[in-house]
Amino acid sequence: MGRPRIDLHTHSTASDGTDSPTDLVAAAAAAGIDVLGLTDHDTTSGWEAAVAALPAGMSLVRGAEFSCVVPGPDGSAEVGKDIPVHLIGYLFDPGHAAIVAEQSRLRTERTARLRLMTERMAAAGYPVDVDTVFALLPEGASAGRPHLARALVGAGVVASVDEAFAKLLYTGSPYYVEKVDTPAATAVAMVRAAGGVAVFAHPLARRRGRVVDERAIAELATAGLAGLEVDHPDHAPADRALLRGLAAELDLVVTGSSDYHGTNKTTPLAAETTDPAQFEALVDRTAGVEVLAG
Ligand code: AMP
Ligand code: FE
Ligand code: FE
Ligand code: ZN
Repeated sequence: MGRPRIDLHTHSTASDGTDSPTDLVAAAAAAGIDVLGLTDHDTTSGWEAAVAALPAGMSLVRGAEFSCVVPGPDGSAEVGKDIPVHLIGYLFDPGHAAIVAEQSRLRTERTARLRLMTERMAAAGYPVDVDTVFALLPEGASAGRPHLARALVGAGVVASVDEAFAKLLYTGSPYYVEKVDTPAATAVAMVRAAGGVAVFAHPLARRRGRVVDERAIAELATAGLAGLEVDHPDHAPADRALLRGLAAELDLVVTGSSDYHGTNKTTPLAAETTDPAQFEALVDRTAGVEVLAG
């Protein structure tokens, strides 16, 4: 066997991806992936179906992407303004009480907020309604702006999910509603207490808005962060180099992943991958659930 193909960050219909967990696993097999990370936003509800569908020869790394914030830098104009960030927890015990409670709170938060965004758009005359948007969500799934984006595409308002974000759903748009995210250091502690490891997802994805500085990353490393997602479709080459240097300096594992979202984004599975030695180093730091071999 050659070098294993490892993609540690993907989404299913349990959050804002468009492939069911079953279809996602099949698509990953077709893409030649040997190790797949399932990391839906704020839920583990896709794990069971993915486990059941796991083909022989593929390994599944169960995870979730946690919606977090880090405080804005002291002494800057942005002091006091939180920066939204995503942390991926891998191989944590999904029954850990604090995680169960926080993910449940965030899903409730997400539902209320997407409902409000939909109502704001409907009030402004856009042909969208709450029932259509929420019909896209299976039981236990996390609601997100991509669901509203798809409803807008379906109604012919925009041609793509990307256009919906660029024109209507971007952070700070008149229809945008905030949600209350978890302090990143709290999420790191929760994931570790549940036997898992935390990786900072796309730390320098600048097109999404403000990003953290090096000091914030160093502070999270001190708080027990295990890795940085360096190779990500939203990262420029110079930022990858910067993050790689930071990872070496802070003794953090380096991951690479597609952040696949099915047809909600254009990035294919395995567009970016993780070095096998880095993956081993990450798994070595876990004591929660096992990497499952199909
Ligand atoms: P939310 O979690 O509701 O705040 O929505 C953010 C999610 O929308 C992210 O996880 C991405 O998957 C997705 N997203 C953000 N920007 C875009 C974009 N320009 N095009 C498509 N999807 C996007
Ligand atoms: Fe997403
Ligand atoms: Fe993310
Ligand atoms: Zn993601």
